[in-house]
Amino acid sequence: GFDVELRKVFKVFNGDTVVRGVDLSIRRGEFFSILGPSGCGKTTTLRLIAGFETPSAGDVLIRGQSMLNVPPYRRPANTVFQNYALFSHLTVWENVAFGLRIKKCRKSETQERVKEALKLVKMDGFANRFPAQLSGGQQQRVALARALINRPTVVLLDEPLGALDLKLRKEMQVELSNLHQELGVTFVLVTHDQEEALSLSDRIAVMVEGKVEQIGTPSQIYDRPQTPFVADFIGDTNLFRGKIEGAHPTMLWIITDRGLKMKVQPTDASGLPLTSGAVVVSVRPEKVNVSFSPPDDAINCFEGRLKHVMYLGTHVHYVVQLRSGDQLTVRQPNALNVPDSDTPIYLHWGADDCLALP
Ligand code: ADP
Ligand code: MG
Repeated sequence: GFDVELRKVFKVFNGDTVVRGVDLSIRRGEFFSILGPSGCGKTTTLRLIAGFETPSAGDVLIRGQSMLNVPPYRRPANTVFQNYALFSHLTVWENVAFGLRIKKCRKSETQERVKEALKLVKMDGFANRFPAQLSGGQQQRVALARALINRPTVVLLDEPLGALDLKLRKEMQVELSNLHQELGVTFVLVTHDQEEALSLSDRIAVMVEGKVEQIGTPSQIYDRPQTPFVADFIGDTNLFRGKIEGAHPTMLWIITDRGLKMKVQPTDASGLPLTSGAVVVSVRPEKVNVSFSPPDDAINCFEGRLKHVMYLGTHVHYVVQLRSGDQLTVRQPNALNVPDSDTPIYLHWGADDCLALP
């Protein structure tokens, strides 16, 4: 079954359409992410699920029930807001208990559940502090506890880790994932961080300019992007604009706008055969092989010169300029011994290591 469904949802603000016909079906217990650049409509989509915004058209369902006439506090969904939105004049305990207070929960039950929620987020020692006396990571944990206290069907998280530094963010990602597994409830995470979405999610919706561009598992999104935007936004990639010169059942010949001839498998990312027209070829940096002489049997082999080296700890990125003028990013596990920037180097990759996107 589905916990959350958006059906052709639109949202217009002062004549500006910021959500444009979004269709989403989020499964029960799923860790689902909405990923996209700043301003693409992620927060608005989340607020439509939570009930803080009403759709200009379309429907929002939770567990099969239309939510159009259900106010936020009656929806089985709780939100962790981007800026935590803790009540600064209330203690940690009071912040977390707030959702039960307005539901007029019995005192003894409130006690027990607040204790349980604080323990869940490892904040049991901080009940009497005020938000200003907590670090960003701790405030985040309290915001999580507050969202979990009502045992919602769906937890909505708006860039919950965005304000934390890199190391803490990685730690909290692991905890978020553990929490999701432990509770078994549906998480809907909004983020602009593609690594975060890839590492945490069961499925991801990539959003651009108010529309969902692609929905899929992390590996479908990364290995089988359906549009140049998704290929470019998710992970690093090298893109070449060109057109199909020749088609054969097992091979496509493409000539790029800068005159490179490439061989590519004849299906696009969605599995449809491409036979003619304009395409964008995507080659991931880790698919590019490097050598100091052209290999005998290499297809898609191009000569270039080294422009930049970036050491990234576990691997090295090279920027190589081809004679065509194209600059490619190449990922290698180890440092290459390139004597100087005049030494010719050869980049090559297989036909099945690149994708032609319409
Ligand atoms: P994201 O979360 O992806 O960065 P938002 O959903 O916050 O994007 O915003 C999408 C667009 O809608 C932006 O152009 C933003 O300025 C606009 N927007 C969001 N909320 C409002 C509002 N309450 N009134 C008018 N415009 C809004
Ligand atoms: Mg936002």
